[in-house]
Amino acid sequence: MDFALTEDQILLKETVRAFAEKHFRESLIERDEKAEFDAEGWKKLAEFGIFKLPIPEAYGGLGKDAFNCLIVMEALGYGCPDSGLLFAAGSHLWTCEIPILTFGTDAQKAKYLPDLSSGALIGGHAMTEPDSGSDAFSIRTKAVRKGDVYILNGAKTFISNAPIADVLVVFASTDKDKGFAGISAFIVEKGFPGYSVGRPLKKMGLKTSPTSEVILQDCVVPVSNRLGPEGAGSAIFNAEMDWERSCLFGCHLGALERQLERCIEYSKTRHQFGQPIGKFQSISHKIADMKVRLELARLILYKVAWSKSTGQKAPVDSAIAKLFLSEAYVKSSLDAIQIHGGYGYMAEFGVEKDLRDAVASRIYSGTSEIQKNVIASWLGL
Ligand SMILES: Cc1cc2nc3c(=O)[nH]c(=O)nc-3n(C[C@H](O)[C@H](O)[C@H](O)COP(=O)(O)OP(=O)(O)OC[C@H]3O[C@@H](n4cnc5c(N)ncnc54)[C@H](O)[C@@H]3O)c2cc1C
Repeated sequence: MDFALTEDQILLKETVRAFAEKHFRESLIERDEKAEFDAEGWKKLAEFGIFKLPIPEAYGGLGKDAFNCLIVMEALGYGCPDSGLLFAAGSHLWTCEIPILTFGTDAQKAKYLPDLSSGALIGGHAMTEPDSGSDAFSIRTKAVRKGDVYILNGAKTFISNAPIADVLVVFASTDKDKGFAGISAFIVEKGFPGYSVGRPLKKMGLKTSPTSEVILQDCVVPVSNRLGPEGAGSAIFNAEMDWERSCLFGCHLGALERQLERCIEYSKTRHQFGQPIGKFQSISHKIADMKVRLELARLILYKVAWSKSTGQKAPVDSAIAKLFLSEAYVKSSLDAIQIHGGYGYMAEFGVEKDLRDAVASRIYSGTSEIQKNVIASWLGL
């Protein structure tokens, strides 16, 4: 086994880190409090080419595989503390660009991918409904075909990017009797008749990532905007989640490293009882635990992305990685607060924000409990 990055990959990682550290240096505490999306930051990500990453050159992209995308996301997560902005970027990339790229017709790809990859259009996806979360395929939103169009009716909630999105991949049932095999996916533009966005939702963390409900009331969607055949919705959703669980979580990997370095620095410079607090075993052991979590998280996530890049399916590793990383992020964020004492708890020091952001990672892309169900079922339980 060779886990060494190639020279090109090392250069890629360093270049992205340098970009992120240069452009996302400003304090975001105030913007986080106001729950403000960084539209300028989005443009910087777009200009740097982040939204081109997985898109082939034919559609204006860079054609990077999952492993190289992961490395870029890790470097961004390290250099850019605005996890809300990176979360919004992740929704755009993994839940809108990827399904259109993987399941779209040539016409759909030609219409949407160039503008999505340049950042001119903002995307996301809408599966969750008020009564359907983990049990995603129990959605009630219906799509009924009438000639050349589908009429969609239903309500979606917790939809990342919805307040700013131009295009969403929306999931709806085309045949209720078929259960998950009756779910279909549609590319829905914000200007389609009957599409509207509900109230913005206030969140505990990831505040700079805009979230809202989406209402589909007799929403008219051309048949040419159906993604894949009728009934392909579950395969499309699973493919998105597969990318999200490896690449979005790369940002968290970078955040874990940044957090660890900050804690080491603080433990060396904060003195109590005449010595640096890092000399107290209770502090140094927390830091050792954080380092162990970071390294194990990196190993499993790299393995998942490497499997994807080499054409292997890794559903169990993917579930293990998602579960381990999100739980590690929460535990290390708690440790970081404890290491910083009262300063860790005060918003103005920017330490507590990681915990608020991290808690969400145990919920989106399938909760920790659902990942355990996946692992257990692969073990025959
Ligand atoms: C920040 C954020 C962004 C999001 N963005 C999007 C988005 O862009 N698009 C979108 O479609 N959705 C999005 N979601 C929704 C997300 O996918 C759901 O919140 C998630 O799937 C869980 O569904 P739920 O909230 O309805 O919880 P529920 O499914 O009601 O779960 C409640 C609790 O019960 C547990 N539970 C449920 N079923 C089982 C089971 N079978 N076994 C064991 N335990 C179980 C869960 O683990 C959880 O602890 C987002 C959520 C968050 C927090």
